[in-house]
Amino acid sequence: MRVLITGGAGFIGSHLVRTVLAPDRPLGEVRVTVLDSLTYAGNPENLAAVRHHPGFRFVRGDITDAAVVDRLMAEHDAVVHLAAESHVDRSIAAAHAFVHTNVLGTQTLLDAALRHGTEPFVHVSTDEVYGSVPFGSATEQHPLAPSSAYSASKASSDLLALACHRTHGLDVRVTRCSNNYGPFQYPEKLIPRFVTRLLRGENVPLYGDGENVRDWLHVDDHCRGLIAVLTRGRPGEVYNIGGGTELTNKELTGALLTACDAGWDRVDRVADRKGHDLRYSVDWSKIHRELGYEPRRDFDSGLAETVAWYRERHAP
Ligand code: NAD
Repeated sequence: MRVLITGGAGFIGSHLVRTVLAPDRPLGEVRVTVLDSLTYAGNPENLAAVRHHPGFRFVRGDITDAAVVDRLMAEHDAVVHLAAESHVDRSIAAAHAFVHTNVLGTQTLLDAALRHGTEPFVHVSTDEVYGSVPFGSATEQHPLAPSSAYSASKASSDLLALACHRTHGLDVRVTRCSNNYGPFQYPEKLIPRFVTRLLRGENVPLYGDGENVRDWLHVDDHCRGLIAVLTRGRPGEVYNIGGGTELTNKELTGALLTACDAGWDRVDRVADRKGHDLRYSVDWSKIHRELGYEPRRDFDSGLAETVAWYRERHAP
C-alpha cells in the first residue's frame, strides 16, 4: 500500500508515520509519503527516526497547492489527512489561516483523490466539532455545534469530506478524536506548554476557574484507532475515537505540577478563553463494536513518560 499522510511532520502525523514504519508493520508492506508545509507546528526532527527508511519520503508542500497535491495523489492508494491549523487560541486571534488550510486544503485533497480514485481517504477530525457536551457523551449522530474558528473549520471540512462520499462515492472515512497527549507536540497546547514552562522555572496560565473538562488520550491510542479505520472502516462512516481519562483542567494542572515537582504558587489564574467549551466527551462504542478498538495506554504512566521526554529535550 502507498499511503499519503498529510501533516506528517506534526504531533499526531509523525507518530502515525513512525508507527506504520515500525518493525511490526501494522499496515504490512507500506510506502509512506508525508506532505507537509512545515508551519511553526511541523518539525522535520519529528521524523528523524524514519528519515532513512526505504519506505519513507518527505515532500515539503502545501495542501492548498493543487498541482503538488494532484501529482502526489496520482502516486498513492490511500490518504490519511491530518494537515491542519490546529490551535484554538490562534484561531481566536486570527481565523483566516484556519479556513484556508482546513477548508480549502481539504477540498483540494478531496478533488484530487476523486480524480485519481485514491481511497480510502481518512479525514482526521476532532471531538471539538460537537461543541460543549455538558453531560453524557456525543455519538457520531450528535449535532455539530462548533464554538471556535478552529472547530468550525474542522466541522466544515468533515461535511465536505462526507459530501464527497455521498455525491461522488469516494471512500471517505471521518474520525473524531478527543484531546491527545504524548511526546513530539509543539509546546503551545496545555500539556507541553505547561510542562516546558514548569521545567524552565516559569509560571503557567490556567484559564478561568479551571473546571473545563477534556478527555485525554495517548497519541498512540489515537494512531491505533486511525489504523483500524484505514484498514477496516466502512466508506462514508464517522468514527469517534476516545476513551482516555476525563479531567478538569485544574486536575490536569495538579498532575503536571506533581510530575514537575512544582506547587500551586507556580499557577497564574488568567481570564477565561473566549467561547471556551466547558466539556468534551465522545461515545466511542461504535469503533469499539465495529473495529475492536480500545485504548491501551494508562494515563499516569503515559503522562510520566511524556514529562520525561520533555525533561530530556527541553530542560535548561
Ligand atoms: P499539529 O499542529 O501538531 O500538526 C499539523 C501539521 O500540519 C504540521 O506539521 C504542519 O506543518 C502541517 N500543516 C499545517 N498547514 C499545512 C498546509 N497548509 N499544508 C501542509 N501541511 C500543513 O497538529 P496535530 O495536533 O498533530 O493534529 C493533527 C490533526 O489531528 C489535525 O487535523 C487536528 O485537527 C486533529 N486532531 C488533533 C487532536 C489533538 O489533541 N492534537 C485531537 C483530535 C484531532
